[in-house]
Amino acid sequence: AKEAGCDNYQFYATEMNSKAAKRLLFEVQLRHAVVRQEFVVYYQPKVDTADRKLIGAEALIRWNHPDLGLLTPANFIAIAEDSGLIVSIGQWVTEEVCRQNQAWLQHGHACVPISVNLSAIQFRNKSLVDSLRILLEETGLPPRLLELELTESVIMQGSETVIGTLQRLKQLGINLSIDDFGTGYSSLSYLKRFPIDTLKIDQSFVWDIAHDESNAAIIKAIISMAHSLKMSVIAEGVETQEQLAFLEAHQCDAIQGYYFSQPVPAMKFEEMLKVQRTL
Ligand code: C2E
Ligand code: CA
Ligand code: CA
Ligand code: CA
Repeated sequence: AKEAGCDNYQFYATEMNSKAAKRLLFEVQLRHAVVRQEFVVYYQPKVDTADRKLIGAEALIRWNHPDLGLLTPANFIAIAEDSGLIVSIGQWVTEEVCRQNQAWLQHGHACVPISVNLSAIQFRNKSLVDSLRILLEETGLPPRLLELELTESVIMQGSETVIGTLQRLKQLGINLSIDDFGTGYSSLSYLKRFPIDTLKIDQSFVWDIAHDESNAAIIKAIISMAHSLKMSVIAEGVETQEQLAFLEAHQCDAIQGYYFSQPVPAMKFEEMLKVQRTL
């Protein structure tokens, strides 16, 4: 028994080391990925609920890993955040989106705002506002065509610094939205202190709208609260006709989800812009 325990320990130790080693290797690869520009931006359409017109997109990062192929953020965002690499990765995504959207604007396509996800670490970075200002100047993109998606956890720290940063971002002319709304602790009185344009209802509430009465009630409450604060509301993760019908009946302004389109590469999104497709 003693020996077995010893073996177990050895096994455990090796396992730990290899896990740590793998993680380290992955971090090194991620570091290289920034330099070698292995990231790709996918665009997921946002659609006006009433007329089904394309009104925007969310930029979602993918990593074209040399061995593993196209990786979704679940595979690397946490490591990017822990290692601090998220700052340069996020900077790249924002630059890419501004350059791309400005190019679409130049080509005379119907232009729509594109949102970028901002992690808490990026938000806390002292040079965030300045680097965004410079980026908008350099690309010439009208600021109203850029939107930032922040999570409740970023905003709900509620300090004067947070409000100050949000106000400076608004002064640049950028749109601000709260992502995954409903999963944090935001209250009505809290929300009105922030210069936020849009609430994005988390997909967990949308999924079983038809069968879960409390989720349905939460969605209705979020929509009426947002509207009374003069904010618009978008629901994400909409996959079915049933979900769409519910959201439409309760005046949710916009919809994003597989029902209309998965996130697509830039070329494909450009096709949608060209035909001003009604989805
Ligand atoms: P998120 O911001 O909540 O993005 C929505 C996620 O739901 C995306 O996953 C999207 O592909 C997926 N989705 C969209 N419609 C549907 C649907 O109808 N059904 C289902 N089941 N899923 C749907 P994705 O692209 O894997 O991104 C995951 C998360 O990674 C994002 O969640 C966001 O938090 C983070 N992320 C993505 N890109 C970036 C980035 O550039 N920077 C940062 N900091 N985070 C990012
Ligand atoms: Ca998002
Ligand atoms: Ca979300
Ligand atoms: Ca999320």
